[in-house]
Amino acid sequence: MPWSTVVDGFRNVKEFPSKSECLLISFATFGEKRTEAGSLRHDANLIEHHGILGDYDGEAVSVSEATEMLADAGITAVIYTSPSHTPEKPRWRVAAPLSKAYPTSDYARLVARLNGVLHGILAPESFRPSQSYYFGRVNGATKHYQVQEVRGAFLDLRADLDASAIEQEQAGTTRAARLEQIRSDDPVIARLAELGMVLRQRADGGVDITCPFSADHTTQGGKGDTTYFAANTGGFKHGRFVCLHRCKDRPNEDFLEAIGLTTKPIESGNEQVTPDTKEMVEKLAKLKPIEYDKQRKEVAANLGVSVTALDAEVRAARSSDRSAGTIEFEAVEPWPEEVNGEELLDEVSALILRYLVIPDNSRQHRNLCPASVRSLP
Ligand SMILES: [Zn+2]
Repeated sequence: MPWSTVVDGFRNVKEFPSKSECLLISFATFGEKRTEAGSLRHDANLIEHHGILGDYDGEAVSVSEATEMLADAGITAVIYTSPSHTPEKPRWRVAAPLSKAYPTSDYARLVARLNGVLHGILAPESFRPSQSYYFGRVNGATKHYQVQEVRGAFLDLRADLDASAIEQEQAGTTRAARLEQIRSDDPVIARLAELGMVLRQRADGGVDITCPFSADHTTQGGKGDTTYFAANTGGFKHGRFVCLHRCKDRPNEDFLEAIGLTTKPIESGNEQVTPDTKEMVEKLAKLKPIEYDKQRKEVAANLGVSVTALDAEVRAARSSDRSAGTIEFEAVEPWPEEVNGEELLDEVSALILRYLVIPDNSRQHRNLCPASVRSLP
């Protein structure tokens, strides 16, 4: 079955009276060996795999955020919401086709690759080769059903993604210990605990908290409405404040400020600012981002400030540098060999075509865009 037919199948799926009546989906080929209960869908009966299926039930990462991660990685996949999905508590599945059939021994490796692309948020059962999932719209929940397609390369052809692959979490203690470590190192969580705002710790690494903006809530709500995720938990690369109420659109900066981790530039006269700090921030602001990233934790610790606060200071110093008119161009190293402009444009064009579907008459335009960017000083 061609992949486009599969994607259409997701888009035009029928509505069913209940979850248990939905269709089952699996990209595996099963043999004829039945279990005692008569089932053909079991690990020992697997022959080969034509695609990878992943499950997300963490209720924090939206379909569009996940779509962005897949698009950033440039792999072909489709995301469709699970029967119990709502926009407030997202649950979805991701399906990535393979360029050819693979034996079961390759399955976990390919799931780990997909899990890495999604920052490690796939549920543990995603690693079970015989796992199949219900799909379909369930009566009543139809309005939330969502399908997103991403076009790129086949997952199995992207060996480069092995470097960022995330294998299945070892059950129980290891995962809990890792999350505990992250939580105990996080300055924002430390501050929340100090303020008595932590309500409980969640299995996905987040902490449910009292919303600092609860005065703005229009409904009462309950435990679990407001959550803080430390960086690298819940699928978030950076620390993230999530609230189900109207504060959901507030930027993270507002949240940090509300709990007293101010991100505003340090005023002179504030006793926390020593000349040392100022000087250090100015120095850091001049570093390349990658250099800064290497040093920020240590410097923050030495200065006795949170990394979040330091980041904010450095960001502020950088933008005031810019507004003062000092634009610094990075030194550009020339390519070692002579470059044939025409070939380069063809290559760029082919690369873009791998990811874009655009009408034929825009070919010229497509070539010109990268060309004009390249010719900037
Ligand atoms: Zn709130």
